Amino acid sequence: MIPISQANLGEIRKHALDEYPHECCGIIIGFAESKEEDVLFRCTNIQNRLHKMDPKAYPRDARTAYNIEPKELIEVFNQIKSRRMVLKTFYHSHPDHDAYFSNEDKKMALFDGEPTYPDAKYLVVSVYDKVVKDEAWFEWNSQTRSFEKQNH
Ligand SMILES: [Zn+2]
Repeated sequence: MIPISQANLGEIRKHALDEYPHECCGIIIGFAESKEEDVLFRCTNIQNRLHKMDPKAYPRDARTAYNIEPKELIEVFNQIKSRRMVLKTFYHSHPDHDAYFSNEDKKMALFDGEPTYPDAKYLVVSVYDKVVKDEAWFEWNSQTRSFEKQNH
């Protein structure tokens, strides 16, 4: 069983196609205890803006990287706090690349060697030529201290 609804998975695939050939990114939040529906946020990938502003600090553009608009991130965390929700999933796409957890992805998910959101799941969607080819889920494993692919 994949940890999200078919409707949200469909929405993520659609988002990945909409942003192609750039990476899409987004977040799913939900309730830990109740069966109430999760909430999906399509986030803005500001990587092209960062790359243009400072190509030395941000050598990759949005075709091979993503950075979530900070204002949107704040909005998501405000909702989590005010509605007592939890962060469930970070998703992003890999245009013309396979669904693996790249070194860049690991760097984004870690802070000072520790996972920033140890309970969050990470979904990577692979898109080739405007067709969703593959998907993979990754989670932090505290025993091996790495992000490992999950089989759902
Ligand atoms: Zn990635």
